[in-house]
Formats: sequence, C-alpha cells, structure tokens
Amino acid sequence: MTTALVRSTTFVAARSRAHGPTAALWHAVEVHRDPSEVDGACELTLCGSLARVSVDQAWPVAERDVCVSCVVLAG
Ligand SMILES: [Zn+2]
Repeated sequence: MTTALVRSTTFVAARSRAHGPTAALWHAVEVHRDPSEVDGACELTLCGSLARVSVDQAWPVAERDVCVSCVVLAG
C-alpha cells in the first residue's frame, strides 16, 4: 500500500427526516473517509441526530431549511 493517509476533515450534507413537529432539515456530517463511501448512509450529524448523507449536496447548504446547530458546529 503506497496510498498516503489523508487526514482531512470534510463535511458533507445529510438530510434528516421530518419527525413529528420537527421538519426535515439539512445537517452536517463530519467524514474522515472518501465521501463516496458514506453516500446514502445514515450517519450521526454534528448536532447529534441521524440523517442520510447526500454527497450530491455540498456543505454548507444554500437552502433555508438548514440545521442551525450544525452550521454553528461546522463553523
Ligand atoms: Zn444538525
């Protein structure tokens, strides 16, 4: 194996489901792997909820329905 270990912190966008009174929101998920490996997976977001990763959607998300906590935590 000659592949260098790249330790970069990347955020990808993840879409949570609407849950009761809580609307579906875009969250940020921190990934330490190739984002393609987590595409479509349910991952723990920065704010502690679970959301489905969508690598088609770049973080930060240019939408209004974005989780404020994740925006702050991704800083
Ligand atoms: Zn969030």
